Parts: sequence; C-alpha cells; structure tokens
Amino acid sequence: MFKDTYISKNQEVSIGLPYDVRLFVKREDEIDSFISGNKFRKLKYNVLEAERIKAKVLITFGGAFSNHIAAVARAGQVRGFATVGIIRGEELASKIQGNPTLKYAQNCGMELEFISRENYRQKDSAAFLQELNLKYNDVYIIPEGGTNDLAVKGCEEIVTPDDRTFDVIACCVGTGGTISGIINSSKPEQLVLGFPALKGDFLKEEIRKFAQKDNWNLIADYHFGGYAKVNRELIAFLNTFKKSTGIPLDPVYTGKMAFGIINLIKNGYFKKGSRILMIHTGGLQGIAGMNKQLKKRKLPLIDT
Ligand SMILES: *Cc1c(COP(=O)(O)O)cnc(C)c1O
Repeated sequence: MFKDTYISKNQEVSIGLPYDVRLFVKREDEIDSFISGNKFRKLKYNVLEAERIKAKVLITFGGAFSNHIAAVARAGQVRGFATVGIIRGEELASKIQGNPTLKYAQNCGMELEFISRENYRQKDSAAFLQELNLKYNDVYIIPEGGTNDLAVKGCEEIVTPDDRTFDVIACCVGTGGTISGIINSSKPEQLVLGFPALKGDFLKEEIRKFAQKDNWNLIADYHFGGYAKVNRELIAFLNTFKKSTGIPLDPVYTGKMAFGIINLIKNGYFKKGSRILMIHTGGLQGIAGMNKQLKKRKLPLIDT
C-alpha cells in the first residue's frame, strides 16, 4: 500500500445551519482502519526509506492509545519488518489485554517495551538511541508521532491540485508535521487553519521548521482542557455529527477540530461564500480505548 499515491474523496456535509459557507471533509480516514489518515501519509516515505536501506526493524515511541503505534505495528506486518514500540508508562505492561490499541499492536507482531515517564523523556537523546542500536540490528527509528522530513513530504500528498478551489483548509495539530505538509502544498491565497489537540505554545516553532509559507494560523481554543481530555458536550457533538453526516470523528483530534470549525462558522468567522475543506486525519482506532475509559467514568459512549 505504500507505493501508491492515494487520493481521498472530499465529502460535502450539510451542517443544517443558514450560513453561507460550504463545508467539505477530506476522507483520509478511509485509507485504512489502522494505517489511517495522516499516519499513512507520515509513514509512506519512511517505510520506503527503511526498505531502501534494508532495515529489518522499525522502532518507534508512543503513549497508551497512540494511533502512530497502531499504524507502525500494522505497517511492519504488511511490509515484513519486525516492529518495536517503546511505550510511555511502566504500569501499562500488565494492562495490555484491556487496552485495544496495545493489544492490536501486539497481535500485529509488535514487541512492546514499557518504560517510565522519566526514561521516556530521554528517548531522543544520543545515549538512548545508541542503546537501541546495540540491542537491535538493522533498525530504522521513527520519532514519536512520526514527524520528520520524510513524514512532511508524505503529508504534502494530502492536498491535491483539485483542492485549489477551497478558501480554507483545516486540520488538527499534534506535533505539527501534518499541517506543515498541507501548508507546503497549499496555494498562498488559501488559509490553512490548525487546531491543536494539546495545550501549549511550542507548536508554532515546530511548524516553522518544516513549513515553507506563512498562510496559516493556529486556533488554540478547542483542545477541551488538553490532550485526550473529553467532556459530555464533545461526546454529544461526535454522536450528532456522525448521525447527521455518516462520518465518524475521533475524540482526540478530528472531533475537536470539527467542533471548532462549526463554532467558528456560527460566529461568522468566515467570509460569506467561503469553501472550507476539513482534513479527516483518521484516528478512529482510538475510539474503543476511549469508550472503555468513558464507561469507567460513567459518561456517555461514542457511537461506533
Ligand atoms: C497523530 C494525529 C494527528 C496529529 O498529527 P501531527 O502531524 O502530529 O500534527 C492529527 N490527527 C490524528 C487523527 C492523528 O492520529
């Protein structure tokens, strides 16, 4: 699957409101259930590079419900690499069976290594990487969240020349790799709007490292309290959106962006007649794990 150039469809959604804007969703979530959306884009050229240098093991890093971990595990299985996932949090070692993401990764053949949060913070240090190189032969190391130059190159394929008719392109932001690729393939007249999924102000610097234009802005008002934080209002929004459009959204990234876009539309943020393209970056594999937590907290579940 990594050799193809994948073009996903743009689906118009009616938001049932009397506003003079048109909203479309680019269905990158339909690429694959696990190597989904931007994680496919970010892995594509990394996988091809790993094959070129004849690496045997893909090693990467992530948290308990990471879309990136699931994607790398599956990519390794599909392309014949061994995979190692370095997971943040020692306490998770005994909880694999109850964690749909980690269980999936393990079933794909990924070797999971659990480390303390303190060690995890050292994961990009020369000493840590040296240790991995000693422990495993022929490794290809992919950073947490998958962002590097090759990942940005892959994300430049999300937006195509046909998308030049849109005035606004919206996407969610974690490390900033995805939005950087989108900025690079947008036209200067288009506005690229990023919705960070976490609190904090370090993202602009990251994006400037990779992005070649400045036709972008971040809207920091829709993280719902921080990374992977949810509340009843967000869950209700996800379920209503799915019912009225048929499009499932994930609670960590795309749901918060869609909530934000619709709120901005209601507040008259966009010019009359604007055509807005929302990038659905996938992440739907995370819903099962989130629903387990919601159940424990006696909150409503996300419809699947
Ligand atoms: C990882 C992820 C993102 C964040 O992408 P970055 O390139 O790290 O900014 C956005 N959406 C989904 C669904 C993701 O899984």
